[in-house]
Amino acid sequence: KENLSTWFQYVHPDERVLVEKSINEVIISQDQVWESEYRYMKSDSSYAHVANKGIAIKDENGVPYRMIGAMRDITKEKEQYYEIKRIQQNLNSLINNTTDYIWSIDTEMKVIACNNAFSEVIFLLTGKVVVEGTHVLFPEVKKELLDNWNIYYTRALKGEIFTIEEHETLPDNSKRYGIVSFTPITSLDGTVQGVACFGKDISELKKSEERLLELNKELEKRAEELAASNIELERFAYVASHDLQEPLRMVSSFLQLLEKKYEGNLDETAQKYIHFAVDGAARMKVLIKDLLQYSKIGTGALELVPIDINNVLSDILLLFKEEINNSNAEIVVQNMPVILAEKTAMMQLFQNLISNALKYKSPHIAPIVEVSYTEDNHYWNFKVKDNGLGIDPNYNEKIFVIFQRLHNKDEFSGTGIGLAICKKIVERYQGQIRVESEQGAGSTFIFTIAKNPMI
Ligand code: ADP
Repeated sequence: KENLSTWFQYVHPDERVLVEKSINEVIISQDQVWESEYRYMKSDSSYAHVANKGIAIKDENGVPYRMIGAMRDITKEKEQYYEIKRIQQNLNSLINNTTDYIWSIDTEMKVIACNNAFSEVIFLLTGKVVVEGTHVLFPEVKKELLDNWNIYYTRALKGEIFTIEEHETLPDNSKRYGIVSFTPITSLDGTVQGVACFGKDISELKKSEERLLELNKELEKRAEELAASNIELERFAYVASHDLQEPLRMVSSFLQLLEKKYEGNLDETAQKYIHFAVDGAARMKVLIKDLLQYSKIGTGALELVPIDINNVLSDILLLFKEEINNSNAEIVVQNMPVILAEKTAMMQLFQNLISNALKYKSPHIAPIVEVSYTEDNHYWNFKVKDNGLGIDPNYNEKIFVIFQRLHNKDEFSGTGIGLAICKKIVERYQGQIRVESEQGAGSTFIFTIAKNPMI
């Protein structure tokens, strides 16, 4: 009795009642064996987890008079147990906090563990999830579905690691897309004990991918339609301008015949009318010629040869010699590069820009036209700068549209096609053209030409 109460002092106060109760139960019952786990104070006053087993020795009347016991320190095991439990809890909260599907199967292909996301999706698929012992059962899963998965499980059970893409149709007919990877679970001796499966829902990704494909198709279709209508338009412009030439020629020549034959017999008004008609026909001829020229650009393949832009420019300056002399113009040309292009196109391009620079000059100052360039890896950047009238920035884009003019024919001759031709040529060389200008402060036309326009 003495001994027992000393011993009791060392049992953790929280557990004393329980321990005492279990001993008493053995004393009053028929049992002899007493077993308990509790904390027991060590000499350094800290508590050890102990497992205690005792045998009560009873006299012939069944009254215990002695207890032989064996106490074992199980602190280490207990700590390990709690550590494992903690790890398990962490793992559980980890795998249950993801929307990815995680599950494992045994060699019988039965699910032995799974996370919430997995049982939720199975519930969506089948409406039933049953847990039986360590197995998770899906009683309503269709056989075809199981057969399908069993093929994958069999592969993984043979030791293969692989990933598949799968989709399932939910009862509401929506589709779930997923990628699933299978990894065999092996014991230390290398035998496969099951398969760990990891699935990721890629339905949203699939949906955006499908939408993107659709959009791409739509875009392709639009581009094709646009290309077709462009070709049609160009053909129309060509045919129209080509076929209009003949009747126009007839109108002009008959008008001229009329003028000649009735010269002197017509009154002033009639002569004025004929003059207007001849003038109109002449302008129409120029328009048709320009239109024809415009519609011819961009047909056929590019035939690129090295072109020395210095030569192109000196040819152009020769063409404008008279105008340059008359207006006292100064043309400043930087040493220009040799580029891969077609000569006629480059002639047209620089000629139109230089001719405009000379044409739209300020009334009282001599024109100064500067032609220069810079280059980068992919493009030649050319500049044609003048000190002329300049352009209202509101019209920076409009001037490149065919037949768009900011000046009327009485102020400056022209049809409004020059810059449209420049734009079409530049775009054929994968470049861009724009103008920087302020009204009254001169204009700078800047355009790029790809160094290799074929790519
Ligand atoms: P056109 O010269 O036959 O009118 P363009 O297409 O060459 O046709 O030019 C369109 C319009 O842009 C011109 O009518 C003119 O108003 C304006 N423009 C073009 N180049 C210049 C320039 N260097 N300075 C000022 N205005 C210009």
